[in-house]
Formats: sequence, C-alpha cells, structure tokens
Amino acid sequence: MIKNFHSPEDEVLGTLDRIDFVVVSVPFVEPFGTSVASWAVKEALLLRLEQDGFVGWGECVADPDPYYDGETTTTARHLIRDFLLKELEPGRTLGEALGRFRKVRGNPMAKATVENALLDLMARRRGIPLHELLGYEARPVPSGISIGIQESTGALLAKVEEAVDQGYHRVKMKIMRGKDVAWVAAVRERFPDIALMADANGDYTLEDAGHLKGLDAFGLTMIEQPLGYHDIYQHSLLQPQLKTALCLDESIHSLDDAAAALGLGACRVINIKQGRVGGLLESIRIARHCQERGVPVWSGGMDETGLGRAVNIHLQTVDNFSIPGDTSETRRYFREDIADPPVVLGPGGFIAIPPGPGTGVTLDPGRLERYTLHRERVR
Ligand SMILES: [Mg+2]
Repeated sequence: MIKNFHSPEDEVLGTLDRIDFVVVSVPFVEPFGTSVASWAVKEALLLRLEQDGFVGWGECVADPDPYYDGETTTTARHLIRDFLLKELEPGRTLGEALGRFRKVRGNPMAKATVENALLDLMARRRGIPLHELLGYEARPVPSGISIGIQESTGALLAKVEEAVDQGYHRVKMKIMRGKDVAWVAAVRERFPDIALMADANGDYTLEDAGHLKGLDAFGLTMIEQPLGYHDIYQHSLLQPQLKTALCLDESIHSLDDAAAALGLGACRVINIKQGRVGGLLESIRIARHCQERGVPVWSGGMDETGLGRAVNIHLQTVDNFSIPGDTSETRRYFREDIADPPVVLGPGGFIAIPPGPGTGVTLDPGRLERYTLHRERVR
C-alpha cells in the first residue's frame, strides 16, 4: 500500500464532454469451452468517457448471452445509459456517485464498467498508472493459465504440456460431468509436480460429494465452484467433506457474498473477478476482508480483450492477491486484439504491468474499427 495516497473515491467529478458505447466482436483463436457453454468470438461492450482531452475506457465483462451470468452486453448498456450515468453529476465525489449506484440492485458488471472507465480517466488525468491510483506499488505479477474443456485427454495433455513449457505458475483445467476424475488423474500422472487446479463452473450437486472426493487424491491447489453458480450454503456442507480447498467464483458478487462464504466456511480461497463484483474498489474491499481471515484471493479472467486484461493485471498489485491469476498471454485468445501492448509471458512466468498512465493500454483505431459491431454516442 502506498503511504498517504489520495483515494480516488474523494476525487470530485467534473463534466464529461463525451460518452460513447462501442460493442466489439473479436474472434477467438479457438472456441473457449466450459461446462456451461462455448464461445467462438469475444463480444464486449466498451464504454468511452472523454473529459478535457483525456479518454478513459471501461470494458464490460458480460457476454452477449446470459450463460455465464445473468447480465448481458445489452442489459449492461441499458443499465449504464438509463440509470448509472445520470449519477455521475459534476460536483459529486467518485465515492458519492458510486454509492448512488447501490440504488440499482444487482448488475455489478454494468457498475464495474462505469467505475473502470472513470478510474482509467482519473489516472490518465493525474498521469499515474491505475495501480498507483488505487494505492498500490508495482510488483511482479505471476501468471496462471486456464485450459478449457477439451475433446480428449490427449488434447488436454498437449495443452498442459505447452503451458508448463511456457512457464505458467499454475495450470487450471476446466472439468465437467464425464470429464473429471479420470481427466485430472491423467494430467497428474504426467505432471506430478505442477500446481494444478480444477474449475467445474457449477456442474455438480451436493449428491456428487462422494464422486468429488475422488479429486482429493491429486493434490489440487483448489477445486473451483463445484456446486451451483449462486450457491454458498451447499458449498459450506461440501467443504468439510473434502481435503482439497474449495474456491468460490460465480457465487461471489460482492463483499457481502464473500463475508457470507467465509463465515459459513464454504471455501478457503476466493476468485475475485473485478467485473463480476462491481469493480476494482469492491475487489479491494473483498481482498482485505479475506486477508484479515487468512484467506488468499486471486484474479480470474473473463476472456477480456487487452483492455479488461490490463485492469486485471493492475488489480493483482493489491495485497492478498497471492495466488497466480488467469491473466495469460493475449495470443492464446486473439490473433489480433484491439489493445496494445499485448500480454506476453516474461521470464519466470511473470507478466508486465502495461507502462504509462491509466491502464497503460491504448486501443488501435484501425483494429477497433474493424471489430466494431455497433457504436452509440450517448453524449
Ligand atoms: Mg471459474
């Protein structure tokens, strides 16, 4: 934590000169599959805020469909345009404006989009990197990798081998019914020493507890979200039955959810996706709450473009992000991304914080144009 830093929440908002939505659709190198759905392109809603010649961008992590979460790019655009932007009255502090967002129930992805864009704008105006605006020093960010559901164990082993050769600090494999214990066993047999974890994206029920206990044999660092996507209580019944730590992801939408999960003993790790919990400031509150209780956190990915990916990198400078996140290399996701510089795995499996003010990334006008589906000028 940087000493005597000036909290962005105390900063007074000025008049935004221009506000735009841009919806982009960027093809993935290969479809990304979970137990729930598979996506061939990244469709993302971007919010552009302009003030006094400075521009801040926010990327909404919602998908175009409601298969990962209830919010979509379209619902987020509606919520931002018709409810959230009107709270950014000049003269209010950022903290006051964000406090008024609480009137709008739910919709953390929409709220995070606005907060991301405002924080990027503020950091650029001050000429400082986003992590410094949040109060944290730069530090090396170790990278993990998330491998989607594969067609065969052979294909999975090839992906894991590639990840290990590249130096990723931990490997996460997606699992689902029918592609779980034997698939984890195959990876563990071939790679006895890697930090390995499994993510079920809510594919099981408490009745599967006996089956899930089979995963205890493989020394996984954690099992992520085995039960329902909004469940906390049943995870608290499952955790004591397993040796392996559970990690909650989908069911944590706020500090209150995180507090409930820890209070109930539903998990021993939390995956903080800043876009899913309403933004960077709520992410920091969750990280602190967990730290006080000895529970580590890490930053998961939502297959973001380089814009959202950069935000996740800055977040990982915050204390208690002590487990490698899912911010892997850009080229795994996109042949061509809209933002520069791309995320590249450096020596030792670390990724660099993009240099410069704000998120440190810039959008390439030509590529942005090429992948734009829709534009809307709000002001
Ligand atoms: Mg997950």
